[in-house]
Amino acid sequence: MEFFVSTKKKVELIDITEQVEGFVERSGVKTGACLVYAPHATAAVIINEFEPNLQSDFERVFEKMLPGGGYMHDKIDDNASAHLLSGILGSGRTIPVQDGRLALGTWQRIIFCEFDGPRAKRDITVTVMKV
Ligand code: ZN
Repeated sequence: MEFFVSTKKKVELIDITEQVEGFVERSGVKTGACLVYAPHATAAVIINEFEPNLQSDFERVFEKMLPGGGYMHDKIDDNASAHLLSGILGSGRTIPVQDGRLALGTWQRIIFCEFDGPRAKRDITVTVMKV
């Protein structure tokens, strides 16, 4: 199962929790695990609070963490910092499914992180496994 998001900025966070929850509900799985995966080398999936100020703080930190320039891959397509952030944070997350729902904490949301936008179409794959 997959869905798509589009991004409007170089670095952007998008809350994808509702879309993922929809897949979990439709799967009928009551107890299991949900794998959320972005098949991209310059994006990541994280789990955290999605509050507007924190969203801006994350974007600011990501922009500051690995400022472009000086990386060897930049000679190819000038996006080494996006690859590095993606690799450090990871392309996917696994969330427990309990009672047919994502077992997220009260303030936890599933967040897609764009590091090389804007992009018209970013894939997100959702796999719900019964255990
Ligand atoms: Zn590249």
